Amino acid sequence: MSDFSARAIILRRIDHGDYDLIVTLMTKEYGKLSLIAKNAKKSIKRFSGVLELFSALDIIGKKGRGKLPILMEASLVQPYTGIRCDILKTAYASYFAEVVNIWVEEGKPQKSLYSLLEYVFHLLDQNALSGEELSIIFQMRFLALSGLSPNLVECGKCRTTLEQFDDNRIYIDFSKGGILCQNCITSIQEKRLLSAGTVKQLLWVNNSDLKKAERIRFTPHAIMEGLDFLEKFVFFQMGKEPRSLKFLRNIRMTI
Ligand SMILES: [Zn+2]
Repeated sequence: MSDFSARAIILRRIDHGDYDLIVTLMTKEYGKLSLIAKNAKKSIKRFSGVLELFSALDIIGKKGRGKLPILMEASLVQPYTGIRCDILKTAYASYFAEVVNIWVEEGKPQKSLYSLLEYVFHLLDQNALSGEELSIIFQMRFLALSGLSPNLVECGKCRTTLEQFDDNRIYIDFSKGGILCQNCITSIQEKRLLSAGTVKQLLWVNNSDLKKAERIRFTPHAIMEGLDFLEKFVFFQMGKEPRSLKFLRNIRMTI
């Protein structure tokens, strides 16, 4: 048996029996980990309300004989209460957390992905950027870190570069992984369209460092097109629709 410590963000928490919780964390040091928090439901004192969704914690875990390591101690680093008090922010944070939870394997360190999650939660909490803008940044950077980026630079069939396209409407074919030029379109009905301006803004988000990316001001049109495209592309890449996406779309429509 051995103890370990980590900085972590809570992605998910589920009940386990009458007294325990299982928390799934994205840790800075070890990637995604699920731990069992014994008596977390029974005793209020045990973790004194720190095991809330999206919170950043310092934890101490213990690898035992059971399947899951045991959460021994957890202290709050950032509660991100600004997220949990706002339903739209909660909907975005739930989506980011679920995408990471679906895609990331347990126990595989991914420091950059941890930093991305911490970065978007921090800015969401602080109102520094809107949920929509952060969602575009999160999804573009998440896809890049996971090796799933859409090809927005050149036609997926003939390799003509975006600058050489003569139409402002850019066709997207998910099965080809990105954009297609007009000559390579076979069935227009099945293709999605993005304007060249949106494609350029998405590329800019990907090619700048995060500090610069947060200075971008998307046009309302780019936000609408970009979100629609990215949410569908992430869904396509994951092979399943994140449950939180339905919730997010409902909330977005009613606010
Ligand atoms: Zn082409």
